[in-house]
Amino acid sequence: MTDSHAHLDACDVPVDVLVERARAAGVTRIVTIGTGIDSCRAALALAESHDDVYAALGVEPHCAARPDAGRLDELRELLSHPKVVAVGETGLDTVRQFATPLEQRRLFDAELALADELGLPVVVHSREAEQETADALASFGGTVVLHCFSSPGLLSAAVERGYYISFAGNATYRKAPELREVAALVPADRILVETDSPFLAPQPVRGRPNEPAFLVHTVGVLATVRGETLEALATQTHDNATAAFGLP
Ligand SMILES: [Zn+2]
Repeated sequence: MTDSHAHLDACDVPVDVLVERARAAGVTRIVTIGTGIDSCRAALALAESHDDVYAALGVEPHCAARPDAGRLDELRELLSHPKVVAVGETGLDTVRQFATPLEQRRLFDAELALADELGLPVVVHSREAEQETADALASFGGTVVLHCFSSPGLLSAAVERGYYISFAGNATYRKAPELREVAALVPADRILVETDSPFLAPQPVRGRPNEPAFLVHTVGVLATVRGETLEALATQTHDNATAAFGLP
């Protein structure tokens, strides 16, 4: 399996241990995500020192009002590293407004331009900003990964435009039946899975710090709602990650 989205630099457990436990649980590749310039440097260092770890580097919407948003030249330099597979996470979030919608949109547009310039996929964080996200992405021609998908209203546009749709541990929560309904509708060649470690640990390990080894719980729930075996969905999502991120 591939964990398409984790924040290894934000995990308390040493990354060597996390990678080892992941491998023992069948998770052989991890895309670790940078959220600000320092976090991107940390993510890249982890990708450099672990064969199975790749990096997506971006400045997240929560940082849109911070100095990081003005350091995209540094980001551009970091993105040239061979273990970088995407720009992001970037996007829009109207729930946790550490920056105004306009600041978030400016940063998102700038990172989309960077992804376009460098020919990289983009990893998108969208929370309660369905229409705004669809609008911002409308003119972007590259590969899009909608991470921690929690926007049922975005599904039809996402499927129509061929975006990859990634599900995290919150899709296993009892109070989120709508996410499982959506997960059942995503085309086989567009579904991805992630942990978003150390956040959003799935059932039955909810409440603990999340880690890539726990991915199997989410894959199991999604396989059930899609009427597939866990093994089939594990293989499918692994192959989809290869295609989405151009992994070896
Ligand atoms: Zn994330």
